[in-house]
Amino acid sequence: MTLLEVENLAVHFGGIKAVDGVSFSVDKGEIFTIIGPNGAGKSTIFNLISRIYEPTSGRIRFEGRDITSLPPHSVAGLGIARTFQNIELFDLATVLDNMMLGRHAHRRTGVFEHLFFGRRTRDEELTHRRKVEEVIDFLDLQHYRDQMIANLPYGVRKVVELGRALCAEPKILLLDEPSSGLNVEETEDMSFWISDIKNLLGITVIMVEHDMNLVNDVSDRVLALNYGRVIATGSPAEVQAHPDVIRAYLGGDDTEAA
Ligand code: ADP
Ligand code: MG
Repeated sequence: MTLLEVENLAVHFGGIKAVDGVSFSVDKGEIFTIIGPNGAGKSTIFNLISRIYEPTSGRIRFEGRDITSLPPHSVAGLGIARTFQNIELFDLATVLDNMMLGRHAHRRTGVFEHLFFGRRTRDEELTHRRKVEEVIDFLDLQHYRDQMIANLPYGVRKVVELGRALCAEPKILLLDEPSSGLNVEETEDMSFWISDIKNLLGITVIMVEHDMNLVNDVSDRVLALNYGRVIATGSPAEVQAHPDVIRAYLGGDDTEAA
């Protein structure tokens, strides 16, 4: 079953065609990975899906519904969560607080109810707390729970950011370079977390990633992008063997192949 469908998506910044007519669809339950050289347009696709960028043309459908014109918070509310290429956490807050912020899309009570701290707010707070503790246990973060982000090693922050996205209980998770800045061992751990997210939590994942070991370990399908265009889609092995993909990574001029 198709969960997310991107059709002829394009965004131009001045003269730069950052994304130039990209189409793909992601099935429920799969790990779909986007690879490509720096500047290919990978993060831009995530910014288009999470509605931070306005597309020049094209459509995005989620669960059959056109979300191309929805504001970012509505998209989050529908069940699309993400992490960023450069970690975006509140450095002076604790792991727990950052994760509680991940529950934002699920807040039902308004400001006034919070002020008076009614029963409904209290119940809601408990539900959020329980969910957050569940994610902390799932990602083995108990030890860091009350520590400030600024005091944590980079590798742990990456896991916390993943956790914050999971706290939103998404249907689909967009991971922008989950292994960037991690050492070999941390990257292997990340690979296990991503597999568990798919297999144990049943969450669909779209990932942008450079580390080919990680790509091969977890991906069901891979899409290769270059200069904002799709150059290949298929199994990890098929895509890596594709002549246009090899050419793109060797840094050669691929215009003659287009
Ligand atoms: P990557 O595949 O490395 O994630 P990006 O999606 O970040 O690549 O960028 C693709 C291209 O779009 C780059 O040339 C980048 O400079 C350009 N770009 C991305 N966002 C903007 C923006 N907000 N304004 C202008 N150019 C942008
Ligand atoms: Mg990027």
